[in-house]
Amino acid sequence: MTQLQKQFEVLRWASLFLEKHGRESRVAEILLQHYLGVDRHQFYMLMREPVPTEVVDTFKAAVEKHAITGIPVQHLTGYEMFYGREYIVNEHVLIPRPETEELVQHITQSTDTSREKPLTIIDVGTGSGIIAITLALEIPNSIVYATDISEDALKVAKKNAKQLEANVHFLQGDFLQPAIEKGIQVDILVSNPPYIAKSEAPELSDTVKDFDPELALFAEANGLAAYQAIIDQAPKVTKTKATLAFEIGHEQSEAVHALIQETFSESTIYTIQDINGKDRIVA
Ligand code: GLN
Repeated sequence: MTQLQKQFEVLRWASLFLEKHGRESRVAEILLQHYLGVDRHQFYMLMREPVPTEVVDTFKAAVEKHAITGIPVQHLTGYEMFYGREYIVNEHVLIPRPETEELVQHITQSTDTSREKPLTIIDVGTGSGIIAITLALEIPNSIVYATDISEDALKVAKKNAKQLEANVHFLQGDFLQPAIEKGIQVDILVSNPPYIAKSEAPELSDTVKDFDPELALFAEANGLAAYQAIIDQAPKVTKTKATLAFEIGHEQSEAVHALIQETFSESTIYTIQDINGKDRIVA
């Protein structure tokens, strides 16, 4: 009879295999914990216990697939955390990034929670719905809209909103077009649009380039086309005194400032750095 492998042995094999392929060995833990269906604490308690053969097989196949193709671990487990909540993700949506948590935090922190009037918010290009859903849950007395051109992305976003019991009005269409058609007027417009120039594609890792949707990553005009389109449409949906907040590529601050300035000449524009000290938000 073959001896069952202990958890730490399976983990050690995986960590070495991943390292050999230039991948992060931490992925081994995330995947094994996922296939065992245990939480972090239980996982550490089980370290010297044997792993059921079927789990070993599934786990090894996943580790090999990740190591060789670069498939994101989130596509294997089917979820990612954002702002302390779990979101369903798949190949139709951008995997949530920690930088985007900073955008959301900036908005929640600069919102007056004691105000009496409801606040109307729109998230443009919502993808998995992370921004819209988090704002709907974190800002009391808010009415939140979210748009996306992709039906497949909206399916994911709607599932997430349902699971997290967030009240978000999803609209299908190009940037702000569906909001314009409905005559919606907002206090806050937020977006993490595609902002990578096509020419930068070769510099991206295979995990991003081959698996995040192209629609979510790339924009024409050196990565500025989506900002341009949203800002052009923005006067039709924003109230007289409104806030615009964008996630940006770290070298796009000046260009996005200029785009906002052109359309909203009376505005106060500022840039905020992320925790890595890179320009990340223009508002
Ligand atoms: N708003 C979503 C996010 O921030 C999707 C962004 C995108 O697809 N560019 O993750």
